[in-house]
Amino acid sequence: DKADIGVTGLAVMGRNLARNFAHHGYVVAVHNRTEERTNQFMDDYRDEGSFLPSGSVQDFVASLNRPRKAIIMVKAGGPTDAVIEELAAHMEPGDMIIDGGNANFADTRRREAALKERGLLFVGSGISGGEEGALNGPSIMPGGDAEAYKTLGPLLEDISAKVDGTPCCVHVGPDGAGHFVKMVHNGIEYADMQLIAESYDLLRQAQGLAPAEIADVFREWNQGELESYLIEITAEVLGHVDAETGKPFVDVVVDQAEQKGTGRWTVQSALDLGVPVTGIAEAVFSRALSGHPEQRAAARALAGPNGTAAHANLVEDVRRALYASKIVAYAQGFDQMVAASEEYGWDIDLGAMATIWRGGCIIRARFLDRIREAYDADRRLPTLLVDPTFAEALTAAQDSWRRVVATAATIGVPTPGFSSALAYYDALRRDRLPASLVQGLRDFFGAHTYRRVDRDGSFHTDWSADRSESPA
Ligand code: NDP
Repeated sequence: DKADIGVTGLAVMGRNLARNFAHHGYVVAVHNRTEERTNQFMDDYRDEGSFLPSGSVQDFVASLNRPRKAIIMVKAGGPTDAVIEELAAHMEPGDMIIDGGNANFADTRRREAALKERGLLFVGSGISGGEEGALNGPSIMPGGDAEAYKTLGPLLEDISAKVDGTPCCVHVGPDGAGHFVKMVHNGIEYADMQLIAESYDLLRQAQGLAPAEIADVFREWNQGELESYLIEITAEVLGHVDAETGKPFVDVVVDQAEQKGTGRWTVQSALDLGVPVTGIAEAVFSRALSGHPEQRAAARALAGPNGTAAHANLVEDVRRALYASKIVAYAQGFDQMVAASEEYGWDIDLGAMATIWRGGCIIRARFLDRIREAYDADRRLPTLLVDPTFAEALTAAQDSWRRVVATAATIGVPTPGFSSALAYYDALRRDRLPASLVQGLRDFFGAHTYRRVDRDGSFHTDWSADRSESPA
């Protein structure tokens, strides 16, 4: 008998995904470049279900039922291309290659087009939830041909997380749509974590709370509208004490945040699409700033504020600022999906994205139900901020939000996430923006022309002569 599905790449993600399929009753072919890992896998997990191990790619492909479905869980980039090539060489038209790694969506578009030429179906699929999710139910964001999803979808939905009985897996759209959405998911995750970090910093610097006390604050916040996986694990990490020194764990960790690239990709794509994802960008830049110890050491001598700020109810104000800034960061991420969907012809269903992020993935949160409801009520919402529920939440939060940003500036605690989110909110609200002055300057030095509020067409003022205006 042959396998229903195969997994090649048996590191932590692939291994757990293979076990997840087996736990759901599927026969799973398993393969890894270094055979030792496959043998280890069989030693450890053979009793958990039906596995068909192979030592070569050829045998692995041959062990799959047609149409073949092979999931690649190897390092993104070159290794993924190499494995695709090896699999494709042994496959037949109608077979499917699924890349579950963190591929760049542009690579996925390229790979999908190339394999289509050869009659193979390529599904670039975002998988979120880390090793725990892969084993017990991740959030899955498959792109690619709708035909492929018909046969593959039911298997993926089966092993995905479920919220209220709904699978956290849906066909996102053609070619790179799945990996794009996974990328934005990760970008939002960066923003979320930055806002959480700023909240912690303020509670510690402005309120003088100890990490263990802040852990309690987060635990309490997790009972309300902020309820989410990231808030939950923040309480865990802040409450953790280093066994060796007896100090709070956060105080023994080097304060330089690393990144593997999906946040940077999100911002790069947003720049290309012209979508202001300030929350994600500030998060990426904050990590970059943290990673320059020489500059930070040199700058330590720079002057800081002398003042202190009396701030009543700071904890509650920070909670509200966090919620409001989070709404902004998500709204921006969803805007980016709208823009990409138009640019690449993907027709992404935003409500469905909120739905599949409710469980399994790192940004899973109660909050995503509100986003789903917002898009259910109005598919063409110009921005999440104006959905009545979110508009009301922002109204309720804005005084706190402004006080928090003011306090942070007064005492010199950097809050780029909170501050930029508030600036975005205020800019979007404005009747008139100073962009009109920017247009005037551009016309002055570069004859770049401008449009008028009272007439159609483009105009240029002859700045160097009599300053008369003419149609451009
Ligand atoms: P790694 O990214 O650490 O990759 C290790 C695997 O890749 C091993 O099986 C290794 O085989 C294989 N590999 C590397 N180079 C090649 C090559 N040239 N040819 C064939 N196989 C190769 O594994 P993870 O499980 O951490 O992640 C897998 C994918 O899932 C990655 O794309 C990652 O970005 C993504 N992902 C990871 C998450 C996580 O939490 N870790 C979450 C979501 C997605 P060998 O044993 O022979 O070295």
